Amino acid sequence: MTTEGKIIKALSGFYYVQTDTQVYQCKARGLFRKTGESPLVGDQVVFAPVDEMVLEIKPRKNALVRPPIANIDQALLVFSARQPDFQTTLLDRFLVVIEAYDIEPIICVSKTDLPNEEDIAPLKNQVNVYEQMGYQVMWTSAETKNGLDHFLPLIQDKISVVAGQSGVGKSSLLNAVAPELSLKTDEISRSLGRGKHTTRHVELLPVGGGWIADTPGFSSLDFDAIASAEELSQYFIDFHPIMADCRFRGCTHMKEPKCAVKAAVEHGDIADFRYKHYQQFFEEIKDRKERY
Ligand code: GDP
Ligand code: ZN
Repeated sequence: MTTEGKIIKALSGFYYVQTDTQVYQCKARGLFRKTGESPLVGDQVVFAPVDEMVLEIKPRKNALVRPPIANIDQALLVFSARQPDFQTTLLDRFLVVIEAYDIEPIICVSKTDLPNEEDIAPLKNQVNVYEQMGYQVMWTSAETKNGLDHFLPLIQDKISVVAGQSGVGKSSLLNAVAPELSLKTDEISRSLGRGKHTTRHVELLPVGGGWIADTPGFSSLDFDAIASAEELSQYFIDFHPIMADCRFRGCTHMKEPKCAVKAAVEHGDIADFRYKHYQQFFEEIKDRKERY
């Protein structure tokens, strides 16, 4: 007899498979070792509950190497309004990497209780740029609990990874929405804050009817998934509707004349800071390629 479940944890050669009713501690069939395909946390698998053996991996929607997780539905990008200040360079970097993996980003502005009146307007202007692009934005405070009622429905039934600098309030946010995990909160904060050089296992934690990956998220923010600098503009979704009007086919929007993207920046249709980050990332990817 076989049944289906989701791998929620991988540790020391064991896969913990969650069904509707319980968790089974399974081994993987030797075949996986031969084909080089091994199960990942997040995989939907067919397994034999009596033998406690994983038999088959269901087709994946996506799979990441770092962190090693399959079937990620979305990435929660947590950026604090203050302490540390909201940071568009890092946010744009995250967005590029996540777009390149074809994962849905959700921008979460945390610690909204901190900024005072005069700080909030410039912050809203920056964040508005992302809303205009079509990104989903949430404003939350773990302190006052504002915005948490919007947060819960977004994570329900989904596998989410959480990413953001340390100290932006990722653990506090999870603790605020999932107090039932209180026994594990130390573990969450420890593991979300873990340095990238320590060995770690990946685990999916049940939060708000969904699954949150207990890893530091996209800790590697190099542009590994991007093959060439010429590809970069695909991951700037605000460039999309405009790029088609560039005079040159294959325009990189760097130095070409009659570039529609540059014109849009001049007209204020694309935010200055977005284009600056584009130029910066473009050079970075080019330099990387030349090294090899
Ligand atoms: P992480 O490293 O991203 O997991 O961040 P933590 O959750 O550990 O939070 C870092 C610091 O910010 C802690 O001192 C928290 O108490 C504080 N913090 C987290 N969320 C909020 C918030 O919504 N409002 C305020 N004022 N402080 C917060
Ligand atoms: Zn162009």
